[in-house]
Amino acid sequence: MRAPSPKTFHRAQGEFLYDENGNEYLDFLAGAGTLNYGHNHSVFKEALLEYIQADGITHGLDMHTKAKEAFLTTLSEKILKPRALDYVVQFTGPTGTNAVEAALKLARKVTGRTEVIAFTNGFHGVSLGSLAATGNSHHRSGAGISLSGVSRLPYDGYLNDTIDTTEYLDKVLGDASSGVDLPAAVIVETVQGEGGINTASFEWLKNLESVCRKYDILLIIDDIQAGCGRTGTFFSFEDAGIKPDIVTLSKSLSGYGLPFAIVLFRPELDQWKPGEHNGTFRGNNLAFVTAKAAIDHYWSDNGFSEAIKKKSLYVSNRLKDIAESHGAETLSTRGRGMFRGIDCASGKLAGKITRSCFENGLIIETSGPEDQVIKLLCPLITSDENLEKGLDIIEGAFSEVCSAHRSTTGATKQFNNLFQVAS
Ligand SMILES: *Cc1c(COP(=O)(O)O)cnc(C)c1O
Repeated sequence: MRAPSPKTFHRAQGEFLYDENGNEYLDFLAGAGTLNYGHNHSVFKEALLEYIQADGITHGLDMHTKAKEAFLTTLSEKILKPRALDYVVQFTGPTGTNAVEAALKLARKVTGRTEVIAFTNGFHGVSLGSLAATGNSHHRSGAGISLSGVSRLPYDGYLNDTIDTTEYLDKVLGDASSGVDLPAAVIVETVQGEGGINTASFEWLKNLESVCRKYDILLIIDDIQAGCGRTGTFFSFEDAGIKPDIVTLSKSLSGYGLPFAIVLFRPELDQWKPGEHNGTFRGNNLAFVTAKAAIDHYWSDNGFSEAIKKKSLYVSNRLKDIAESHGAETLSTRGRGMFRGIDCASGKLAGKITRSCFENGLIIETSGPEDQVIKLLCPLITSDENLEKGLDIIEGAFSEVCSAHRSTTGATKQFNNLFQVAS
């Protein structure tokens, strides 16, 4: 994860952060995918200020409020219905991990089974239930007790590109002595953010859905980071053509960086007793207001989705260029939509590059097991001009760091470097 930044930040607007001395930074970290619409969006801000000014309810436990009703109507009319998704909405505590806890508890409750299948490099939060499903040993070692109830399976591409790991799942579930108990659910990210921008293919996701259907297992998509437009569509699973039983959303859901999380699930699965998964901050009314404004503003038609797809093509091409011209043997690009990265194969190298970016006014983070993947989470509203500017800074950092790296590692490499500079 990123080293603590020595700067103190003071203001933010759109794709920019400003430190206390007024220095400007392009923000390609964007709250780890929480600020898909940028900082302090003027339209959402106005809606929020108006609501506060009129003494709108800020905290109401799980009471019905007009703000909640308006959010639910907008979510239903503009997001769920057009996608033919018939889901109940559960307001959990305001963190992503609490939504995951609720999803896992519900799946276990409904099926009466205890095991859940999660994947290598998956990240689902750090409270105990979610942490059991999270792969990262750094996070897992903070648990202090055994993390149980989760079986681990290789994610798409984990072994190699020719092995479809859902075939393994199908095989062991069909074998009464495989030793793998029938699980309540499978929990998966369509693109693993913290795990290093590992991207599941649509085919693999479809196969995973089929195996779930075949054995009557619930499919949970954790769309906390990949959702809300990051991959080009509101939900990250839309283009894969699958219909999960349960979906978790948080991070960019409020649109404004306000804490907010929900779980969506098929109505038949709603077997909670009243208040069974309770919490004081279920339903953040301020977030209802900004989340509604975000959906109204960006998701009333296809325009935003098309704009994201256009921008992501540009980002993808620039990253490919950077990887090819600065070490095609070791660098590779990954990701989908505006959820992209460069795998540097070395955490040290990736760290040097992100530090160089920071010195040149760009905030960007790494992810992956060795922090070896430079992760681009540019706000989706970043202007073309600033997208270019940010990618120029990244390219400059690769030039600076890679040439310094090579000039200290022998004559052949130096020659390669000269050759690359010349071409
Ligand atoms: C960030 C994240 C979480 C956890 O959310 P918190 O708000 O940090 O608890 C869970 N799943 C995924 C995929 C995430 O990216």
